[in-house]
Amino acid sequence: FTTEAGLYTASDQLVVLTPDNVDRILVNSTAALVVEFYASWCGHCIAFSPVWKSLASDIKEWKPAVDLAAIDCANQDNGPICSRFGVRGYPTLKFFHSYSKPDSKGEGFNGFPRNVRGLRHKIIDKMETHEEPWPPACPPLETASKAELDNFFETNNVGHLALIFETSNSYVGREVTLDLLQYENIAVRRVLSTEDGLVAKLNVTDFPSCYLYYPSGIFTRLHVQLEARAFYTYALQRLPGVVRAGKPPPVTSDLAKNTTEDQWRPFNRSRVYMADLESTLHYSLRVELAAHPVIKGEALSTLQRYFSVLAKYFPGRPVVNNLLKSVDTWLKGEKDTELSYSSLRDALDNTAEVPNAALPEGVRWVGCQGSKPHFRRYPCGMWTLFHVLTVQAEEAAGKDPQEVLQAMRSYIHSFFGCQACATHFENMAQESMSHVGTLSSAVLWLWSHHNHVNNRLAGALSEDPHFPKIQWPSPELCPNCHGVKNGEHTWKQEELLTFLRSHFSSERLLSDYLE
Ligand code: FAD
Repeated sequence: FTTEAGLYTASDQLVVLTPDNVDRILVNSTAALVVEFYASWCGHCIAFSPVWKSLASDIKEWKPAVDLAAIDCANQDNGPICSRFGVRGYPTLKFFHSYSKPDSKGEGFNGFPRNVRGLRHKIIDKMETHEEPWPPACPPLETASKAELDNFFETNNVGHLALIFETSNSYVGREVTLDLLQYENIAVRRVLSTEDGLVAKLNVTDFPSCYLYYPSGIFTRLHVQLEARAFYTYALQRLPGVVRAGKPPPVTSDLAKNTTEDQWRPFNRSRVYMADLESTLHYSLRVELAAHPVIKGEALSTLQRYFSVLAKYFPGRPVVNNLLKSVDTWLKGEKDTELSYSSLRDALDNTAEVPNAALPEGVRWVGCQGSKPHFRRYPCGMWTLFHVLTVQAEEAAGKDPQEVLQAMRSYIHSFFGCQACATHFENMAQESMSHVGTLSSAVLWLWSHHNHVNNRLAGALSEDPHFPKIQWPSPELCPNCHGVKNGEHTWKQEELLTFLRSHFSSERLLSDYLE
């Protein structure tokens, strides 16, 4: 047995417990922890694991206050840990208070709900009744009174106070409070509909609704598309001056400055630029592939597959399309079992016999510019390229729904320079790519898995503070894509598909900054 054989990995936004880390994680932690003890062979555990993973990504912003963990009791190495905590049946959930002692067995989570919403509420209930010492990163979760708020700014040094008015059985206020805990310069408090003084003062009539309250006594309603957690959280995280803790605030002058080798190119964030796609092709074909002096076996079929989808679906300028088609034809005709990179490079650059065919040299990032040279650029271009290709394949009524996704999968696996990215992507592909059965589900598969990656990377060092990793598209970019069902945020698949088809369509590609 190895830990890898378990149902979770470190990229699931939860801590995978092992004999090496269990004491460090559970004993004396500043955050509370909810641990799932499971056995990887147990059917109920397998059925429950998608819920636990979704919960982990749903409450990932709460980590400094309460984190999730999992341990595979079927792994022999972990056996003594599971018996130490008195676990007999699987799955068992246990809540560990912050600053738990070494002999703590955790509190049982009996009869726990098997859905994200119910579990999230149960965790809030546990946090609210958390004994002293309170987890230091956890903001107050109790309701606020008028008297307290009158003096709020005397004792709290924040620029924004968001008040969520709600009924006593609603969890939205506490959820948004926890969603914002890693953000500075903002506090969130819940106010009950029965708090007559405040309700009357602000003339609140909708529950839930959110108001911004300022030291001068001024207040305004937060305008959101729907009165629900996801919309409040998204809007509050983006208020002026609100920044993720530990991240330097975005400095606008970073964007205008000549921080890269070229001048900043102003662009429209809601559009896709051909210059990014051509730059991606240049980097992929002339820089990334150049690291492989000899291409053979699986890598050679990958290259052929890549050119095949580029030749069929790349919505390029005629000169670029001619080049892609000529290289594709040349590759298909190659009988050798291996290829030198230099012969590929010749095919790319020495196009004297092919009329009107060329791929511009160099990169000119536009929509993929980063505020610093190490942010965005090529990986942004790669995602964009393949989103465009999935949409073009659908538009062209391609025959094989897997064609573009599998070309991407093998390119990333064989050539993408970021190996950790390639491993993560391959894990996702193994899980579900083969289930994609239509061209439109290929578009949606890539969209949803790109969002998985965004979720995992939100707040990471590689995140450009000017381009935070969000669940994309934002409510501003596609209002119709977002909905609420039973109080939970949902994506409206039909609207989303309409949006993706248009966003990545060839007609809407902008040709600014092309040579
Ligand atoms: P990106 O995530 O690159 O997105 C580019 C643009 O696409 C965005 O600006 C937005 O306009 C649009 N977009 C965003 N989300 C979606 C969506 N869901 N559907 C459609 N369009 C969308 N980095 C790591 O640190 N670890 C990893 O494991 C990792 N894995 C990667 C795997 C792959 C296959 C690729 C191509 C990249 C990976 N990266 C990884 C890089 C990372 O995902 C980003 O590409 C990089 O950090 C640059 O981010 P960005 O802000 O430009 O936005």
